[in-house]
Amino acid sequence: MADDLVLENVTKQFGGVTAVDDLSLTVPEGSFFALLGASGCGKTTTLRMVAGLEELSSGTVRLGDRDITGLRPYKRPVNTVFQSYALFPHLTVEDNIAFGLKQRGVKDTKKKVAEMLELVQLPAFGKRKPAQLSGGQQQRIALARALVNEPKVLLLDEPLGALDLKLRRQMQIELKRIQTEVGTTFLHVTHDQEEAMWMADTVAVMTEGKIAQLGSPTDIYEFPSSPFVANFLGQSNLFAAEVSGTAGDDLLLSAHGGRFAAPSSRAHSADGRVWLGVRPEKVRLALPGEDAPAGHNQVHGVLTDTCYAGVSTEYLLKTPWGQEMSVFSANAAAGEPLQPGTEVVAHWYPPHSFVLARQSGEGDE
Ligand code: ATP
Repeated sequence: MADDLVLENVTKQFGGVTAVDDLSLTVPEGSFFALLGASGCGKTTTLRMVAGLEELSSGTVRLGDRDITGLRPYKRPVNTVFQSYALFPHLTVEDNIAFGLKQRGVKDTKKKVAEMLELVQLPAFGKRKPAQLSGGQQQRIALARALVNEPKVLLLDEPLGALDLKLRRQMQIELKRIQTEVGTTFLHVTHDQEEAMWMADTVAVMTEGKIAQLGSPTDIYEFPSSPFVANFLGQSNLFAAEVSGTAGDDLLLSAHGGRFAAPSSRAHSADGRVWLGVRPEKVRLALPGEDAPAGHNQVHGVLTDTCYAGVSTEYLLKTPWGQEMSVFSANAAAGEPLQPGTEVVAHWYPPHSFVLARQSGEGDE
């Protein structure tokens, strides 16, 4: 589209540290895009380079067909919302929101400011000072102050990081509603995987200045491309396996003496050594004597731990080859959880598996 944000081979070095390493990505116009990663992976530096607050060591930043790499921050059609809100404490909410408009010489700011206060659902708060607002309200005003300038791209740097969990959830819903309403491209930086998956259309998982995987929330969760991404986005069971053949759309695998199937179309490595992966919530437990559904992948084991948490129970089981396996079971029916020491068969539907490349030596017995 016309105003996609495009980063091409962007690198940033601070002395000997490579914070961002030859990173290329496209943020489609109008999308809600999350940069997700652990502390120090380079996500804030990436955002700051888009804002013009940090000079690139090499590479290009474009907005549509316009090269904005060398533009000064105030000349870029982008605005940033920080975790710290950065509101002017001596100005009223209205004046905070009107600030950017006045700087651009807009005379009548009243209507625009009122529209923004409506958008963030604080129409009656215009005369207050920031100190008279809660953290969540201050963050909404910071958002209004950024959006009033009608940026092409809104940059959000951990904007909800200072809020407690409940307020964070409310603001996540709000942010998503506002983004849908205004249609502005949002580039959101967070280390919170649930927040990224909940809000964004596309998530780029970053590590060590590079993108480990980019895709929709379901793609990166259901079909991670590496053990790093599989484990960063929640728990996963990974079994060292070898590809033994194909059957229709399935990849056939052997692992620890057992035979397994997985979807070949989503495999991140099609031959030789692989990891066979499955998320704990995809696995069901059958007691010996009970039949697992025909065609399901199966692992025998003994329960070593049972953690009942009301809504679900988390089981740990030990496989015959000594590996620990995690199973989450929704407590849909009444009844006691299975007790440690119980022999079980863990089983799952083959399309719920994922397959990853495995380096020589990794996981070999
Ligand atoms: P966080 O979530 O903690 O903010 P991040 O993923 O946003 O982390 P960055 O702040 O982009 O990570 O930092 C990436 C790397 O670059 C880190 O190793 C950091 O120490 C380094 N770095 C960032 N800014 C500077 C700077 N001004 N000078 C030197 N090194 C820096």
